[in-house]
Amino acid sequence: MTQTLTPRKPLILGNWKMHGRYDFNAELLNGITAGIKAGKTKTKVDVGVCVPAVYLSHTEDLCYGNDLFLGAQDCSAYAQGAYTGDIAAGMLPEFGVAYVLVGHSERRQYQQESSHLVALKAQQALAADLTPVVCIGETLAQREANQTLAVLTEQLQAVLAVLGAADLSRCVIAYEPVWAIGTGKTASPEQAQAVHAALREWLAQNGADAASMRLLYGGSMKPDNAVQLLGQTDIDGGLIGGAALKAADFMAIVSAAV
Ligand code: PEP
Repeated sequence: MTQTLTPRKPLILGNWKMHGRYDFNAELLNGITAGIKAGKTKTKVDVGVCVPAVYLSHTEDLCYGNDLFLGAQDCSAYAQGAYTGDIAAGMLPEFGVAYVLVGHSERRQYQQESSHLVALKAQQALAADLTPVVCIGETLAQREANQTLAVLTEQLQAVLAVLGAADLSRCVIAYEPVWAIGTGKTASPEQAQAVHAALREWLAQNGADAASMRLLYGGSMKPDNAVQLLGQTDIDGGLIGGAALKAADFMAIVSAAV
């Protein structure tokens, strides 16, 4: 059943992954903030960058007062303690962080993060007043075996089990087909819309405030496909990897979200 949708402000988040150096960061952020100042997107789109943790302090200064949200790429599943190398969600607001990615497919794949661990990270993020961006996605083999929705809802179910519906509603969900991330292959707008609509329906059926939740698409979004993807009814923004590393490309995607 299709539900009546309330307006949701678009959100475009850049995921810098493990890229950046002081000079590069400054040049990129200067380009982005100049684009925000010059453009007409300022009050219409929320824009943010998820940077490597070591650059949060540096980038906080560059984002401050520039209508640009700062995001982290991960946080610990624990509040504090003997977890060498990890970063507690509660530390992130001290650097002006508003969003934190949890469960990006690269972490699920290379750090063997389970959906339950991702749920605990989202819980820590919410406890720190951050907005978790819960990333979910299917592999090519899973899509070809018609398991897409089963995989995605299993990933979401694990988060629902830990957070409950009210707190799940406070998350942003990023649908990122694994086969589209960094590959240049994008889900077609119709494919992406169909998944987003099904996810919204699943969220509603499970008691979440689906109509107001922001569902982002990620996976090789570029200036030349952004208008069509972002024009879909249930796609409320994008999580952008490669194209977030060039100010002009990133800002073209931001403009496409208006
Ligand atoms: C990502 O890292 O979340 C991503 C979507 O990357 P890309 O845009 O490069 O596919």
